[in-house]
Amino acid sequence: ELILAFETSCDETSVAVVENGEQILSNVIATQINSHKRFGGVVPEVASRHHIEQITLCLQDALSEAAVTYSDLDAVAVTYGPGLVGALLVGVAAAKAVAFAHDLPLIPVNHMAGHIYAARFVAPLEFPALALLVSGGHTELVYLPEPNRYEIVGETRDDAAGEAFDKVGRVLGLTYPAGKEIDELAHKGRDSFDFPRAMLQEDNYDFSFSGLKSAFINTVHHAQQVGQKLEKCDLAASFQQSVVDVLVTKTVRALHAFPVKQLILAGGVAANQGLRRALENELTHFNEVQLIKAPLFLCGDNAAMIGAAGYVAWKNDVSAGLDLNAEPSLEFPWVKGAVK
Ligand code: ATP
Ligand code: MG
Ligand code: FE
Repeated sequence: ELILAFETSCDETSVAVVENGEQILSNVIATQINSHKRFGGVVPEVASRHHIEQITLCLQDALSEAAVTYSDLDAVAVTYGPGLVGALLVGVAAAKAVAFAHDLPLIPVNHMAGHIYAARFVAPLEFPALALLVSGGHTELVYLPEPNRYEIVGETRDDAAGEAFDKVGRVLGLTYPAGKEIDELAHKGRDSFDFPRAMLQEDNYDFSFSGLKSAFINTVHHAQQVGQKLEKCDLAASFQQSVVDVLVTKTVRALHAFPVKQLILAGGVAANQGLRRALENELTHFNEVQLIKAPLFLCGDNAAMIGAAGYVAWKNDVSAGLDLNAEPSLEFPWVKGAVK
């Protein structure tokens, strides 16, 4: 069965055709990064306008690359949240138009469920599973007791991991988004600054990165004031090691409390080489847990992952009417019995 999927939650316009939720026939991604770079972040109005310009082009390319026509499709999936409202609305409107014109079921997909399902292109998901979801706007541990159920176990109290990478990158004079470049710099440096690892002792699965960010900024500013030159590589390596230590420690704690068959690493920051390696090492202590890392080319925003998550939702009888609206603050529920 073929799903046409739309993703426009942030700054990537993407349309994909996915077969049986497991095979990518096409995955067209138009990124707007170059338009947002000079502002050091995504400008919502600019994002919406780009999506409007790109969406039909992406749709045509996705269909022709997959060598299918509308009559071959079985359903339409779309990200309806979380994200920028004006951006989400473009994808939602396009998906509705196709669903209405061709009388196809419309499947609403949570963008974060999509990120998790990028891992589906590596291996079938087995339940229960735990996902470490690290992206530009989110950092959370999500428990999946069964297909199409997502429950938050812990989350960041302040900045998302990707946000911290981007803010720290700005202080280093790197262009937005800085995650990949910091990752590369870190590879050449060593963890020589003693940056904080927040909330490690606390008995929960939550994260915090704003203290680390402040410590980093203070270190750089102080050095500038006294005219001292710091090694960018070492700053990057120290920052990254702190983020990785916190993410891995909390994930391991969650694995002890929630025994699972699989650990899924997903979201834009899942592309981080230091994080991928650290989790691989740590998981050697959990013989019964299979680590599935989202493929590098599917860590960032794309519609193929929405098609995969949408397929599972559809098979679990999720569908929406043509009154589907964007939900910018859409969130997973908290795991049962959690004290928040
Ligand atoms: P969300 O998914 O929470 O709505 P988003 O869609 O904007 O947010 P993604 O596209 O999933 O976020 O991820 C983008 C983030 O990933 C950016 O903050 C970017 O710096 C970060 N990132 C990308 N590659 C790497 C890397 N190798 N190391 C660390 N961070 C990275
Ligand atoms: Mg993006
Ligand atoms: Fe995302």
